[in-house]
Amino acid sequence: GDRNPGQPEFLQAVTEVMESLWPYIESHPKYAEQGLLDRLVEPERVVMFRIAWVDDHGQVQVNRGYRIQHSMAIGPYKGGIRFHPSVNLSVLKFLAFEQTFKNALTTLPMGGGKGGADFDPKGKSPGEVMRFCQAFVSELFRHVGSDTDVPAGDIGVGGREVGYMAGMMKKLSNRADCVFTGKGLTFGGSLIRPEATGYGTVYFAEEMLKTRGRSFAGLRVAVSGSGNVAQYAVEKAMALGAKVVTVSDSSGTILDEDGFTQEKLAILMDVKNHHYGRVNDYAQRTGARFEAGKRPWHVPVDVALPCATQNELDADDAATLIRNGVLCVAEGANMPSTIEAVKAFEAAGILFAPGKASNAGGVATSGLEMSQNATRMSWPREEVDNRLLQIMKGIHAACLEYGTRPDGKMSYVHGANIAGFVKVADAMLAQGVI
Ligand code: NDP
Repeated sequence: GDRNPGQPEFLQAVTEVMESLWPYIESHPKYAEQGLLDRLVEPERVVMFRIAWVDDHGQVQVNRGYRIQHSMAIGPYKGGIRFHPSVNLSVLKFLAFEQTFKNALTTLPMGGGKGGADFDPKGKSPGEVMRFCQAFVSELFRHVGSDTDVPAGDIGVGGREVGYMAGMMKKLSNRADCVFTGKGLTFGGSLIRPEATGYGTVYFAEEMLKTRGRSFAGLRVAVSGSGNVAQYAVEKAMALGAKVVTVSDSSGTILDEDGFTQEKLAILMDVKNHHYGRVNDYAQRTGARFEAGKRPWHVPVDVALPCATQNELDADDAATLIRNGVLCVAEGANMPSTIEAVKAFEAAGILFAPGKASNAGGVATSGLEMSQNATRMSWPREEVDNRLLQIMKGIHAACLEYGTRPDGKMSYVHGANIAGFVKVADAMLAQGVI
């Protein structure tokens, strides 16, 4: 804490991981050597920079940009770019730290990183968004590269923004190699990448449900958020026979007791992806119920999939979900549950998966995009989707293997933290003190 003042999210993520690792390291003392843990909690490099750009009124705007290059131990730095007013050093350091373990869990050769800016895309014109992306890359380009650091999308950065950033990168570097993933299909993108995080979260949750002899078929599901991850989580949960009754954004929650359909999802996607609208606009177009300022967690459901942002599900929300009989909670977002909420779920014996396990399908498919680009090939939809499914099943199996605690209880939190750690730690030990 003393070394990282004013970084509560980073300390929260480190605390959660260290609580899992302590008992494991006590019985595996080689991991206490070579200053391994001290090195692991320190990003290899942090770049902070000024982004100056001119808005539609001719005014100069200044934002702050970041790239956290957390660990290259098992491959090039890899992780998304976030554009949101809440972006700061603490948030990005927590995300880069988590990313390192998550990427290790995918079994693909990717290190961990994260970046972004305190830019608010809401209300900006298309021209402003493009100029901002170009200004951002005019500094970022010197720190990234296909074998150095490969960014992707995250909150506020979707296909449109990745396209502008990849285009500027190409112009500045005079190279057409893979420096961004999440690209459009016409210039090197992978099929299934847009769907991958949401689909992967549902594939993971289905594996969790199987351990209790259940499946999504016939279950009631609450999804939070309505962006990239949430949309495809809704789609895949419906495809597996579930009834999805909520989505949300920072303005409130949509409650639809009849359940989502493909037609309703198409309207939500139109509102969110083409008009950058609010969920209330969706409610007005469909007649669904909109609850201003509310989160979805008061709605009785069997499965909860938080897919919006960090710390969006607290101890009170967890208590409500538990009281309403929730079976399974799988995080589509990064660290959406507070530490207290996670403890409550685990204490109540509810199937709970942390984002670094259940949302790893996005970055895994980014890894598949890198492979396709490196071989100048593109694989069919079914092939990428099947590899994604196999990777999610593999992560689930790794959680089971490492997550059984001395008291006999199974914890996905411990399993994901220890399995990811072992891979990164072994690679670090083999490469010496650097
Ligand atoms: P999007 O920008 O597409 O969507 C974000 C959604 O979350 C929006 O509905 C947004 O609502 C909501 N949201 C954001 N901030 C807040 C907030 N402070 N309070 C309430 N709601 C909020 O982002 P993604 O879907 O890509 O990302 C969602 C989460 O998933 C993030 O935690 C991200 O790190 C994680 N993730 C994403 C991956 C990907 O492949 N995209 C991969 C792995 C994890 P509003 O429009 O009102 O802001």
